[in-house]
Amino acid sequence: MALDRKVAYINLTTGEIETKPIPIKIREMFLGGRGLDAYLMYNHIKPGVDPLGPDNAAFISAGLLVGTLASATSRTHIGGKSPLTGYFGSANMGGFFAPEMRFAGFDHLVIKGKAEKPVYIWINNGKIEIRDAANIWGKDTNETREIIRQELGDRDITVLAIGIGGENLVRYANVMTGIKNSGGRTGMGAILGSKNCKAVAVRGTMDIKIAHPEEALEYNRRVINQVISTKVNREMGKIGTGFIWGATNSWGGVRTRNFQTNQLEDSDDVEPEHIEELSMGMTACFGCQVHCRGKYVIASGPYAGIYDEGPEYTSMGAFAAEPGCKSALTILVSNHLVNIYGIDTLETGSMIAWAMELYEAGILTDKDTDGLELRFGNDEAVIEMCHRIARREGLGDILAEGPLRAAEKIGKDSYKYLVQVKGMSNLNSDERATPALALNVAVASRGSDHLRGRPAIDLYGLPEPVLRRIYSQPVPYDGPLTSHWQDYEGKAWMVRWQETCFEAVDALGICKYHTLFLGPNLPNFDEWSRLIYLNTGLEMSPLDIWNAADRAYNIERLFNIREGLTRKDDWLSDRYYDEETTRGIPIARGKTIDRKKFTKMIDEYYEYHGWDENGVPRPETLKKLGIDKEPSHKL
Ligand code: SF4
Repeated sequence: MALDRKVAYINLTTGEIETKPIPIKIREMFLGGRGLDAYLMYNHIKPGVDPLGPDNAAFISAGLLVGTLASATSRTHIGGKSPLTGYFGSANMGGFFAPEMRFAGFDHLVIKGKAEKPVYIWINNGKIEIRDAANIWGKDTNETREIIRQELGDRDITVLAIGIGGENLVRYANVMTGIKNSGGRTGMGAILGSKNCKAVAVRGTMDIKIAHPEEALEYNRRVINQVISTKVNREMGKIGTGFIWGATNSWGGVRTRNFQTNQLEDSDDVEPEHIEELSMGMTACFGCQVHCRGKYVIASGPYAGIYDEGPEYTSMGAFAAEPGCKSALTILVSNHLVNIYGIDTLETGSMIAWAMELYEAGILTDKDTDGLELRFGNDEAVIEMCHRIARREGLGDILAEGPLRAAEKIGKDSYKYLVQVKGMSNLNSDERATPALALNVAVASRGSDHLRGRPAIDLYGLPEPVLRRIYSQPVPYDGPLTSHWQDYEGKAWMVRWQETCFEAVDALGICKYHTLFLGPNLPNFDEWSRLIYLNTGLEMSPLDIWNAADRAYNIERLFNIREGLTRKDDWLSDRYYDEETTRGIPIARGKTIDRKKFTKMIDEYYEYHGWDENGVPRPETLKKLGIDKEPSHKL
């Protein structure tokens, strides 16, 4: 059945492997995926450990509904103490890995210790083996997958792999579970690299027994209609997530030339419609009807003929607006390079753009760049720096350390040009005109992040009654809610609500485009309650799901506080408050974030979470959620 999958503890130092069932009580408390990973991380990672040392662990998981008859239940979560931020590390990816892992009998892997020499983990229908990886160390992520499939003689094996970036401990190295399925944020690939773990390969043919199969199929049909009848998803099915970039750039919400402007002008070559012309059509993750993932072959230049997938919204910003480039080819090539090297597209683009601003400001010189002219708009420099970062060559070695460590090494005024929160670079969006989105970035539990609590529908200016219908369930809310996307009032609740919604969807293993993110009528707590019951037999009300997500989010907060996080870390770079936007539609110009109003928003946000004025969960909040005794080492 869907609830009989296990957690496997794999110690790479000793070679010991232990498997345990997951008690129903723990599932009800944390669901699975990111939610249950938060619980495991808080229990198994000792405070203050070196993120790149053997005492850190990598937690790989499938959400509660992954592999069932619920659609788009494709998501794999990977967690651990972040080598980039030192706080809660977490990345989420689509594709096929987590469903295959469940078909092989496991919901959660906890990989501890450090192997003496390169290894990979092989999981096949309930069995786990640690195998020699000497022949794949040094290979890129695509080569790794293909060599393992050949070695084990099965083309259907799904592989989670690190590339050279992870081997070289680039602090924002990712893990890849397919050509473009990337667990990109917070450096999870560096954790596996530090353990000499090149890959985890899975193959499973064990059925997941569905509790009420016919009703589950019928109900899921309704959910699919809800998802694909949404205009935003129909657009994504045609041109991918790049359409978000195009729409955002049109009004002036795109971080450009690091943070110097908020719109890339004359950008026809990188508009999503043009990228679509270069694409070979779309593909999808496990069980998804939206199929938002582009496929392409690079048409010209030294990389001509190479196949890859994407580019996503994030890669378009990372390799166009941020470095001030206007070439589709640069996006497609850079996207390919970060995929095969296994480094985070967003962090890579941001670090390059920051270095370009430092170069133009004279803080970095030709001596630092080994003669590379690191100016905005230099396409060759962007591509060259992707190589240098992954290989840790020259300036690339410094940029591979991430924003805060790199600024410390470069010195001078370099820190003030950074656009980061908690040591993680911001997305390529510019939130100076959108206080709700700015708040989400400042307070997110894994550092600057748009996928933790972004109330993106705030940008639609929906009427207040519609917002109230959405944001007043499953817990009642009668506080302020305002329709205008430039207001500060009522937004703190929207961020707090959205954080809980996204924690739930990550714990269930459903893609965020299938819930209330970019469309107001997408499935949510009510639908999840029914899907959980029909697929797993667990009876959880919408409020039970909300509470499970809230529990996990509080554990993430506790994890961060234990690692030294304070209120001052929930804050944006000074540039948000001091430098005005200069481009875009008239009401997007001349905008900064107001420090006083923003401080009040943070106060409200803490209050809505049941945290004190320092952002620490109050004892009564933890007691109410039943986590006042954590860490408890129950599993
Ligand atoms: S919407 Fe896109 S990212 Fe989400 S599951 Fe479908 S194909 Fe994957």
